[in-house]
Parts: sequence; structure tokens; C-alpha cells
Amino acid sequence: MHEMSLVRSLLRQVEDLLIEHGGESVSAIHVEMGPLSGVDRVLIELAFEQLVVTTFCADARLVIDEIPLSARCRDCQTEFNLEDFRFVCPQCDSQQVQITGGDEFRLLEVEIETADRCRASQEEKPCCEARA
Ligand SMILES: [Zn+2]
Repeated sequence: MHEMSLVRSLLRQVEDLLIEHGGESVSAIHVEMGPLSGVDRVLIELAFEQLVVTTFCADARLVIDEIPLSARCRDCQTEFNLEDFRFVCPQCDSQQVQITGGDEFRLLEVEIETADRCRASQEEKPCCEARA
């Protein structure tokens, strides 16, 4: 399954960040997913459930941010989000539309818990946010 290997490499990235930031555990993993990413959200969530328990991030929550398909008009340079796969510029009705985003499946942000800072601040919420 394609999603399994995606999630596996996602979790590897997260573990690298965790080590880099000297964190104890990961509370949340934020990813962004575009409509052209070719991945199935349900399969991603399933793969995550199966794989996360084998990692340092066992208690982490997966937060999937679904991003729109974005495009730019080649004629008037307007940038816009495509809806319903209608490849027409909303400004000038041109069909010379170039896709500029929406095929991503990537790590956005990891919420890392660090023991030191948590003890220092007595806070339960994640106190260290690492950007990918
Ligand atoms: Zn246009």
C-alpha cells in the first residue's frame, strides 16, 4: 500500500525532529494534503494507526490539513483556488490555467513535548513546536 510507505517516511521525519529538538514525545503531527496528492485520507489514517504504535510517537495525534488546489492564470496572472476541477480563470475566463499547488502530502508541523520545559512551566500543553 502506497500510504503505508508515505506514513512510514513521515514518521521517520518526525523522529528525526524529535531527536534534533531533544524532545521526550510527540503530541501531534500536522500534515497537509492536496486533492492531487494521490493519497487516500482514510488509508493514511489507517496506516498511521498501525505504524505509530511502533515509534517514539505512539501517543501522537495525526492532524490532516486538506488544502485546496491552487492555480495561476497564464493570461492575466491571477492566482486562485480551483473548485470542482473547473480549470477556468475567475478573472478573465481563460482556460490557460497552470496548477501551482495541491499535489502535496507533506509534514507541516510537529508538536514536541520536552520534559525540561514542561517541568519548568508546569504546563500540560505542548511547549515546543518544531517546524518541518
Ligand atoms: Zn485570467
